[in-house]
This record gives sequence, structure tokens and C-alpha cells, in this order.
Amino acid sequence: MRLRGLSIALSVAAIAAAGLFAADAPAQTTGVDRLYIMDCGQNAATDQSRWSPGINVGKPIELSDNCYLIHHGSGWLLWDTGYPDAVAEKPVTTPIGTATRAKTLAAQLAEVGVKPSDIRFVAVSHTHGDHVGNVDMFPDSTLLIQKAEFDWAFAPDKTPPFKADRPVRELEGDLDVFGDGSVTIISTPGHTPGHQSLLVHLPRTGWVVLSGDAAHFKDNWDNRRVASMNTSAEQTLASYKRLADLLAEKKAQLWINHDKPQSLGQKHAPEFYD
Ligand SMILES: [Zn+2]
Repeated sequence: MRLRGLSIALSVAAIAAAGLFAADAPAQTTGVDRLYIMDCGQNAATDQSRWSPGINVGKPIELSDNCYLIHHGSGWLLWDTGYPDAVAEKPVTTPIGTATRAKTLAAQLAEVGVKPSDIRFVAVSHTHGDHVGNVDMFPDSTLLIQKAEFDWAFAPDKTPPFKADRPVRELEGDLDVFGDGSVTIISTPGHTPGHQSLLVHLPRTGWVVLSGDAAHFKDNWDNRRVASMNTSAEQTLASYKRLADLLAEKKAQLWINHDKPQSLGQKHAPEFYD
């Protein structure tokens, strides 16, 4: 089932203008009360300069690969799904590096008492294999993905990244997922044609931006570098600016999915942020 007619373009400016970011949000909404960071793999890469052209050429780098499980008053949302759980049993080596998984996503969900069928929305930053490896574990959840990303990933000349026959809501821009401003998908193309990020509000932690692969690690973010495999340098730089403006406006934290030093300093499931 594909709900093509439901694509929504909604700018953050429009959301802000509607007052949905205000502290006095409507009383019937309950917002987000928990965010779990889940270990969705590691990548021991052989050459950092794949992501930072001309910098640290030939130098290995370890990258984290996180998934984020978010509890909202009206349902669970999973942001990215990591490497396939099968990697836990059999690491995968490619010319880029070696992917491993210390734990499966299924086991981490079970540890916090969540079944795959409990997940209302699965949203993916983009369709690279280290982000969509377990999408098919959630065949009944509604997948939130940009139309541009879906069309790119399912082009006739490519291997499909997951089963297309599933509930999908194709987006054309931003989306206030639960309608109360607590979880907003932000369109940030450049790494891929339909790359997206997630802005989340937590009562005690405050605003957090989950930036997917907009930047792969902090040094690339700080220096506004464009990774070699990105589909558009121009869109990458525009998305950097958009995220920087959003971070400043919301005084938000930037959580970079693959930045291993940052990830090591964060709480992981079953601990959570609230
Ligand atoms: Zn990627």
C-alpha cells in the first residue's frame, strides 16, 4: 500500500508561524517523553577521506551506526534501522570497511518491551544500507521517506533496499509527524536526493537534531565538508546552512549518527533521554 496522495510539504517556518513550537502547545498533545539510542552497528572503515576528501587520506576511522527509538503519547517512531540484524552473526567486509553488530535491533527493542508491531512510524534519514537494513522487520509500520529518496532508491537499475510493497508515506518537504511540533522531519538533501533529518523535543533534554548522514562526523560538520559519495554538493551546503540555522533558532543539540566519540559519550538503551 502506498499512500501517494498524502505527500505533505510543510515548512518549519509555517509550523513556527502557526505557533506549534510554542511552550503553550495544545493540551491534548502529550509530546515525546522518551528517546532511546540503540546500537545499530559499527563500521571499521579503511580510509576516512571517502567522507573528507583530501583530509586524512588513507587513515582508518571507526564509525558508529545508531538507531533512535522515540516514544510519543500517540505512538512509537523509529528513526533509522541500521545494518541488517544478520550482521550480528556474520560481519560484512566491503572495499569501504568492515561492518559489525554487537547486538541486534530486535534484541534491543525486546529489552525495552517494544515489539516491531508496536512501531507506528519508521522514518529513515536515507536509503543507504547502514540505515535501512531492518526496514522489512516493520512491515505494518508506516514508512516516512521523501518521495525523491524513494524514487531514487527504487530506480529500475538499482537493487531495491527493502520491500516496496508496504505502507509508505512519501513526503515532499518537512513533516510535523504527530501534529504538535514535538517530532519534525526536516528535508536536508545532498548526501542523497531525499536525505532528511529529525528535530525532536524532549521535556528535560530540550531540542535535539538527529542529522542522519548530513555530516558523518563532527570534524566534517565543523568544516562543512562534502563527502565524496554525496549526490549534490550544492544541496549538501544548503542543508548544512539549514541545520545550522535550526540549531541556533532552537538552541538544539546536534547528534551525528556516525560520530563514534560523540556516541560513546551518550546513554544507550535501555537507558534513555527524557
Ligand atoms: Zn549514507
